[in-house]
Amino acid sequence: MNIVLFGPPAAGKGTQAKIITAERGLLQLSTGDMLRAAKSSGSELGNKVAGIMDRGDLVSDEIVIALIEEQLDNNPDAPGFIFDGFPRTVAQAEALDKSLSSRGTAVDGVVRLCVEDDVIMGRIEQRFKDEGRKDDNPESFKIRLDNYNKQTAPLLPYYAAQGKLSEVDGLASIETVSASVTKVLNEMNVSGGGKKPSFWKRIFGLS
Ligand code: AMP
Repeated sequence: MNIVLFGPPAAGKGTQAKIITAERGLLQLSTGDMLRAAKSSGSELGNKVAGIMDRGDLVSDEIVIALIEEQLDNNPDAPGFIFDGFPRTVAQAEALDKSLSSRGTAVDGVVRLCVEDDVIMGRIEQRFKDEGRKDDNPESFKIRLDNYNKQTAPLLPYYAAQGKLSEVDGLASIETVSASVTKVLNEMNVSGGGKKPSFWKRIFGLS
């Protein structure tokens, strides 16, 4: 099962991804976490992206696609993936589709956490106070939110056209949002690739 968790920054994607990971054993692939790790390790990649991230801008498609490809290559036996913060542009979504398809699998569903901009702004002020993440400062965060609305939100019709988009209310408590996400995932049609065939298919060739 491959899931994309979709929503603006600070919508709670990371929190929900961790819950799903714990419940279903899927692997969480967060490009934000990967880039932050590169940044704090002081690697060449980290130094290259540090300024862009602090400003609140998007790192190039080429860089994030390569990070995801690397993880897919390194985890051929994973039961599935939760993509958190990726894809963020139509080019990234197309690359992901291509990449999964070449591995005999696909995005099974996209779960959108719906949270309004003014609620997000309130949440982020608190997170900035609590965690002090540089790109949570009000100026950078505004750029991140603008980038989401301009570059990432256009992915919604892309996935809706594929019949893969589900929406949940992201304003509720963590537990309530998680229950809604679980319901959506339980109702999802799962792609064939990367999974064991069902009992009937294995025994009788039936699907
Ligand atoms: P996040 O923690 O997902 O909000 O990501 C933090 C920052 O990392 C973003 O503001 C971007 O600068 C960068 N980033 C993370 N994922 C992507 C992506 N898929 N495409 C471009 N930039 C990304």
